[in-house]
Amino acid sequence: MNISEILPLIQHYPQSGPRYTSYPTANHFSPSFTAQDYERIALESNQQPLPRPLSLYIHVPFCRALCYYCGCNKIVTRSQDTVNNYLDYLYREIAMHGRLYASDRFVEQVHIGGGTPTYLAPELLEELMDMVAQAFHFAPPSKVQMSIEVDPRTVTPEQAAQLVGIGFNRISLGVQDLNPVVQKAVNREQTAEQIEGIVEAVRKAGVNTVSFDLMYGLPHQTVDTFAETLEEVIRLKPDSISLYNYAHMPDRVPSQRLISADTLPESDVKLEIFSLAHRELSKAGYLYLGMDHFVLPGEPLAQAYADGSIQRNFQGYSTHGDCDIIGMGVSAISRVDGCFAQNSSDIQDYRTLVDKGLLPVNRGYELNSDDMLRSEVIQSIMCQGEVNLRDIAAHYGLIWEQVFYSEYDRLRPFVNDGLVELTADGFRVTANGRYFLRPIAMIFDAWLQAPAISEMGLPKQATAGYSKVF
Ligand code: SF4
Repeated sequence: MNISEILPLIQHYPQSGPRYTSYPTANHFSPSFTAQDYERIALESNQQPLPRPLSLYIHVPFCRALCYYCGCNKIVTRSQDTVNNYLDYLYREIAMHGRLYASDRFVEQVHIGGGTPTYLAPELLEELMDMVAQAFHFAPPSKVQMSIEVDPRTVTPEQAAQLVGIGFNRISLGVQDLNPVVQKAVNREQTAEQIEGIVEAVRKAGVNTVSFDLMYGLPHQTVDTFAETLEEVIRLKPDSISLYNYAHMPDRVPSQRLISADTLPESDVKLEIFSLAHRELSKAGYLYLGMDHFVLPGEPLAQAYADGSIQRNFQGYSTHGDCDIIGMGVSAISRVDGCFAQNSSDIQDYRTLVDKGLLPVNRGYELNSDDMLRSEVIQSIMCQGEVNLRDIAAHYGLIWEQVFYSEYDRLRPFVNDGLVELTADGFRVTANGRYFLRPIAMIFDAWLQAPAISEMGLPKQATAGYSKVF
């Protein structure tokens, strides 16, 4: 794969689009979907002949300071009372969900996201996990993947090691950029030493996977400054790297108004930065999965990619795509059987609903057969790259040449550019085509023309939603 071959093609295709962590994307969820709908579907899901395992997502919305680029659902506070009060409600919600699921529905994955999960001291995180363990049945520890997002500014290496004692075996660190000028401009100042201390401590304590989030397109970033960040990152050797594109949308993300547009790199510089990152990470042995994601060959995601079992969900790429996902906490999203259910993004509303003894769901969506069909196609594009339209359509009693007639035609430009190859049963995405997964998937998205309800106020779980490619 040659990055220089794909760069000239980028302008031919849509420059922004959904990240397809769900289909339809969260901005199309409807307020007509209620907590009762979710409960019905959750109870029905227990009747499946082969009980699906569970994946839990828990949202901790608090942050100590505001990173100006951030569009996540978060509450910036220094009040421990506010946090303790939230935990009381969260525990009640966790217990309510736990009562819905049969005892043969084993938890195989837990992810704590935010906000800043490590706003909670290790003792509180331990208490939280005790509540989860009381409410749900867990698979044997060797089968359970437990991950947590760590803000290097909020934990010491000793506290990070304590997380491993609680059971977390995957740690995700928000690094973004190590240049002090860039960090100051986005109000997120943290040193390489802080990050290194945490990486060393968790590795020593036995963590399997360390992931870094990086971001390009930030104010004052240049190819040279990002090269220095990459050099440090490669030295620290995280198992997995998400390299996100910063999309400057101050009209929709108010905190981004604190970033001056004239300090942002031009799009050609952003392309150069991405190109550099791709080159350096490849040289360092990372494999590009697609959708901004790089992994080292030993990482379970790399193995799942190789054997075709990789899936896409709210956490991005996942090795646990067969799980029903239960989202808990303000703004969290569940995906159970054929439905999505999102909790209220407003903390007061969230509390009011829990006080009434209700699950705090305030919108969602139950997929129809067309959504399921298209969701399967988009999953195949994003994950396997080999898309058997014949089999997918046949699964729904349809003939692929009829149902995907227009979509197949719209793939022609991608074929001409060497990004897609047509096959007897559908098509495959080429190695260069992995940089164009979004525009390829968008061809099969019947919701793109529908008016979006809202994109903002989502947890990182769903952020989102929608973003620019470069
Ligand atoms: S990036 Fe993370 S720590 Fe910063 S404001 Fe957003 S959620 Fe909080």
